[in-house]
Amino acid sequence: MALLPWRKAKIVQITQLTHNTRSYIFQFPEPGPFDFKPGQFVTIDLPIDEKPNKRWRSYSIASWPNGSNRFELCIVLNHEGKGTPYLFDEVQEGSELTLRGPVGVFTLPENLEKDIYLICTGTGIAPFRSMVQHIVNHSIPHKNIYLVFGCRKFNDALYAEELKALAAQHPGIEFHSVFSREEVEGRQEFIHQGYVHQVYESIVQSKKGNYPQPLPATFYLCGWKQMVDEAKQRIMALGYDRKSIHQELYG
Ligand SMILES: Cc1cc2nc3c(=O)[nH]c(=O)nc-3n(C[C@H](O)[C@H](O)[C@H](O)COP(=O)(O)OP(=O)(O)OC[C@H]3O[C@@H](n4cnc5c(N)ncnc54)[C@H](O)[C@@H]3O)c2cc1C
Repeated sequence: MALLPWRKAKIVQITQLTHNTRSYIFQFPEPGPFDFKPGQFVTIDLPIDEKPNKRWRSYSIASWPNGSNRFELCIVLNHEGKGTPYLFDEVQEGSELTLRGPVGVFTLPENLEKDIYLICTGTGIAPFRSMVQHIVNHSIPHKNIYLVFGCRKFNDALYAEELKALAAQHPGIEFHSVFSREEVEGRQEFIHQGYVHQVYESIVQSKKGNYPQPLPATFYLCGWKQMVDEAKQRIMALGYDRKSIHQELYG
């Protein structure tokens, strides 16, 4: 497929979401809607190197298609990197950036006829926020959706209030937050201590009950390599085949 052309977009709003993560709202000069599928990403050409391909950084779209010419990215600062320090230190509201997209095949199928597990850590929540908001806004029929989000501390919980409220209002969507560096008091249904793996494994096991095979499901994994690789191994060990697992690797 031919590459989409580079376009200019202005940053109209920057919001600090956690100590190291910001939301950036972009707006195209053209008034027409920016059409994309939830789960897709854009690539930004940042003025950080002479060589074009060393300047490109990709980000999942954290907002959902709403007929406007705006969209949101959710970006975590990597002090060791080149691109995110530029985005955090040099880019301001009113700055114009060059980008290309939407692209990517990390998207939902037409029919959501199986249970869906959306498993992520950190800013890996971005494409899943887009997906669940889209499903709810369009009343798309679905089976159970389990969104399992992992981070270190309570303060790192991106979009947590929004997603908690969404899940509370929509039976069939569960939002599980998992904290690796917090003490979670008592036993809570949707807030866990530890890592994402134990949470989706325990949901799969409890749904399976005494059946020999786990129930049909599709898994979407998003985030950094270590979590995604480990999740793939564990999901296959639960009895699912590779084809039921989709992934978006951030690095
Ligand atoms: C499809 C896709 C979607 C993504 N979506 C998101 C998203 O929604 N949000 C998000 O926050 N991120 C996302 N990412 C990750 C993002 O593209 C960047 O990789 C990330 O922001 C880091 O960029 P950076 O320029 O700061 O780091 P880079 O400059 O790319 O550096 C990355 C790492 O390489 C190491 N490194 C860099 N240069 C050197 C060097 N010279 N020597 C040794 N080590 C070096 C650094 O230690 C650093 O840890 C996504 C990635 C992909 C592929």
